[in-house]
Amino acid sequence: MRRLHTKELRIATRNTSRAINRQIVLNLLRTHQPVSRAALARLMGMQRSAVGLLVNELIAQGLVREGATGEASRGRKPTLLHLDSRGRCAAAADMRATRTFLALTDLMGRELSPVVSFATDHDPGAFVQNLAGRVRRLLAEHPEAGRCQGVGLAVPGMLDRSGSVVVHAPRLGWRNVALKEPLAAALGLPVELENAAKACALAQLWATRGDAQPSGDMVFLSVSDGVGGGVVVGGEVLRGRHNVAGEFGHMPLSVDGPLCACGSPGCWEVYVSNLATLSRYVGRPVPPLPAELGDLTVDGLAVRARSGDVRALTALLATARYLGLGLASIVNALDPARIYLSGEITSAWDLIESTVRAGMAERTLVAAGGDTEIVVVQTEERPRLRGAAALVGVPAFGDDQGSSGRVLHSSGDAPAQRLGNPRRR
Ligand SMILES: [Zn+2]
Repeated sequence: MRRLHTKELRIATRNTSRAINRQIVLNLLRTHQPVSRAALARLMGMQRSAVGLLVNELIAQGLVREGATGEASRGRKPTLLHLDSRGRCAAAADMRATRTFLALTDLMGRELSPVVSFATDHDPGAFVQNLAGRVRRLLAEHPEAGRCQGVGLAVPGMLDRSGSVVVHAPRLGWRNVALKEPLAAALGLPVELENAAKACALAQLWATRGDAQPSGDMVFLSVSDGVGGGVVVGGEVLRGRHNVAGEFGHMPLSVDGPLCACGSPGCWEVYVSNLATLSRYVGRPVPPLPAELGDLTVDGLAVRARSGDVRALTALLATARYLGLGLASIVNALDPARIYLSGEITSAWDLIESTVRAGMAERTLVAAGGDTEIVVVQTEERPRLRGAAALVGVPAFGDDQGSSGRVLHSSGDAPAQRLGNPRRR
């Protein structure tokens, strides 16, 4: 059940069974499209006529469209339904401490333009102007992408509960930086900000098949310039009281370890981030990298390790052990059904998995904890960019349209899950 607070009474009054059924139709379409009205009715366990009325309403609102006709064993061939995301796009931006990546996507997160990237300006005003200029240019270059519905920006830091102020972004050196309003003003478009790992968790939730049994609690971990985490509990992204739930990167691993960007010594992040791995390889803290290594990345390190560079393999395995120890703490604290792992280090997964597993097994409190499923999300899948796109796509097709100004209090799948499996009669 949705947890209700007096402030959210508007949601309670809006969520009549009809609104919930509409939402289930949208979710089933998102995950099963193209699908016929008859199949929808079967999936929902509802009368075909009732589903037909809902579908007609969604077509009139431009959320659903009719496509080709499907096959039928006998009788009239059914017209197949799709979510209608034509003529509309999102600008999705993945901001990292070093570079920012930007692409136009449709509202389901599929890329409609090439991904462009630029160095991240650490001055907030300059960053806003630069990003706004590049969004405008991309939109001008790709008129075929359609009308831009909004900008989704995945931020490497913690946001306030309203999602408009970056409260703390250690690797950017930002504290209490208002970002949403200046960017919206510069672009004249709606802007949605989210912590990068929470955005990834949301996108993962959004991609889950709507009719599947709730797959249990999960953690999305992004190991990159820094370490970010997003937690999904009971089908919702966990925020906590101050919207900082999931900041696993700053769990202390050693009280007298190296200094972290957050100002404290020995955070998990300083042992497993890309810079930590590269520093181990170089034998001193980076940046800067020695000139002869060019712009060596962790992916590059994995290539070197595979071609017999023992020092590269040793650096990766040291990171793997620390990764396992931290994952054990996450398992001990949350006992999730699944952990999604993303970031450049995953390009070395075949080399490091057994060491990561050994580190987990060493510190998880029950043996089964060490076997927690880890799903590697490859860098090529661009999870953070998909997460940024979901910030615009979820409110367009999701259930929390307009509620309290934030889109992420629950997932697109939540209504179906709240009602149980619609397949069940
Ligand atoms: Zn820290």
